[in-house]
Amino acid sequence: MRQSYDAVVVGGGHNGLVAAAYLARAGMRTVVCESRHKTGGAATTESPWPEAPEFKVTRLSYVMSLMPPTIIKDLSLDRHGYKVFPMGPYYQAFPDGRSISIWSDDAKKNYEEIAKFSKRDAEAMPKWDAWLGGLADVLGPMLLMVPPKVGSKRPGDLADLLRMAWRQRGIDVRTVGDVTRLMTMSIADLLDDWFESWQVKAPIAVNGVIGTWAGPYEPGTAYVMAHHSIGDVGDGHLGSWGYPEGGMGAVADAIRRAAESFGVEIRTNARVARTIVRSERAEGVVLETGAELRAPVVVTSLHPRTAFLDHVGSANLPDDFVRDIEHWKTRSGVVKINLALSELPDFTANPGSQLQPHHTGSVEMAPSMEYIERAFLDAREGRAAERPFSDSVIPTTFDRTLSPEGTHIMSLFSQWVPAEWADEPHTEELEAYADRLIDEYDALAPNFKRSILHRDIVGPYEMEHEYGLVGGNIFHGELSVEQLFHMRPAPGYCDYRTPVRGLYFASSATHAGGGVCGIPGWQAAKAALADQRQGRLAGVRKLLTSA
Ligand SMILES: Cc1cc2nc3c(=O)[nH]c(=O)nc-3n(C[C@H](O)[C@H](O)[C@H](O)COP(=O)(O)OP(=O)(O)OC[C@H]3O[C@@H](n4cnc5c(N)ncnc54)[C@H](O)[C@@H]3O)c2cc1C
Repeated sequence: MRQSYDAVVVGGGHNGLVAAAYLARAGMRTVVCESRHKTGGAATTESPWPEAPEFKVTRLSYVMSLMPPTIIKDLSLDRHGYKVFPMGPYYQAFPDGRSISIWSDDAKKNYEEIAKFSKRDAEAMPKWDAWLGGLADVLGPMLLMVPPKVGSKRPGDLADLLRMAWRQRGIDVRTVGDVTRLMTMSIADLLDDWFESWQVKAPIAVNGVIGTWAGPYEPGTAYVMAHHSIGDVGDGHLGSWGYPEGGMGAVADAIRRAAESFGVEIRTNARVARTIVRSERAEGVVLETGAELRAPVVVTSLHPRTAFLDHVGSANLPDDFVRDIEHWKTRSGVVKINLALSELPDFTANPGSQLQPHHTGSVEMAPSMEYIERAFLDAREGRAAERPFSDSVIPTTFDRTLSPEGTHIMSLFSQWVPAEWADEPHTEELEAYADRLIDEYDALAPNFKRSILHRDIVGPYEMEHEYGLVGGNIFHGELSVEQLFHMRPAPGYCDYRTPVRGLYFASSATHAGGGVCGIPGWQAAKAALADQRQGRLAGVRKLLTSA
């Protein structure tokens, strides 16, 4: 069976849906092919416990911050159900019975909290926030730019991108220098330059290692912190994150509804087997069923190994590009644990299981820099962390659509297990790993273990085999310096185009990905539409109509 469209989008994750929405909005007859039974990809809300369908978990990604207002507005996402509750502070309880809460929007409270550990750090915190604000002035707009392409008439590397940002925004030389430092420093070294107490440094360091195959002492982790600190959730507070009502699946659903309102056709259970390439041009895709969907524009939002090596095939790609994709680093060692709780954790440091401010934000398990580092070293040495670290949230402190009254959902984003666990399920070891993390929380909040009603563990193997996140990397590829900006996904191909004409790349493995930001989908659609306007694809159309 053969059908024709103006555009085929491969993958119904949020980026695929964003790309499809923009293409259809511009008048293209667009179809999305999604292999799973539902759209959303890593932005998904599910009920993992058949015996308790009333509990819904945001199974992989869990908080929003990075989606630019342009996309939210263009797609009228608010009208389609997009609503985000800004979350509370970073909270860490310590074994000595103390705790710290760090807010993104309350300098006075921060001063009181931090001064418990160091007056000097309390005074440094507003300066740190202002410093991050300066960096966001550079990095924020850079995330929305197409990096200059190596080999094009425009100059093309990170330095040029910085120069462009500098010229356009009048940013001072010091800030450009600070951005350069971010690329090369470790988050631990950077925080040592600013703060003295480990109680302050450890919770901030978490953002430097989220989803990253690197401990806090590894160069480049300072940038990962910045990547996670330059968004907001529309509340005007830099670095703030929020819980979408209905979980992250509701964000994808809002984008899907927007896409459908522009006429996009969504096909689920439609796994793409290969991209049709003739004379170095994409002409459509073949589904696993053998059905052919022909179109002069193909946008793929899959992991680069799947999109290029499996679907296009090395024979249709330049050797250098094949080598770059083969060498693409795609490890995380992340384990996502979702819990249904009968009550909120009753921390010894902040007693009570009734709702309190510290329950409303990130309830961290990162009590010191050494704790985080040790967890990474364990995994790098080939075993699961003896004492896992976790960035955990309880979205039901705001969002009452996810669990019955009086109960809660807790989302534990934890690290690390060996990256190679993406090759085998390691079910029993993952259960033991989850037990150890739960014990760590129980030591700080003694009602924790007994409050657990159900648990769901998603390890690297499931991430790869169920969700297509090859190697278990949460961003389709590591956010390491050699894979950023003009290098994402490969030098010469950072403009959302690929070596195959008519094939565009919208995955989180492009500039501005990862995260649920929609920028790759938006940029890939813009590239396709620009090429359409310039008639570069006219030849393909002719071929297709004569085929
Ligand atoms: C555990 C975890 C926690 C995270 N936490 C956060 C967070 O809190 N906030 C945040 O902003 N980001 C977070 N992220 C990252 C973020 O979720 C991803 O970067 C983003 O969702 C990726 O979106 P995407 O559309 O590029 O790709 P995906 O979501 O991976 O979508 C690709 C889609 O393609 C489908 N597919 C695969 N193969 C085929 C095929 N052959 N044919 C057709 N379809 C196919 C997949 O099923 C999937 O639906 C997290 C990720 C994970 C895994």
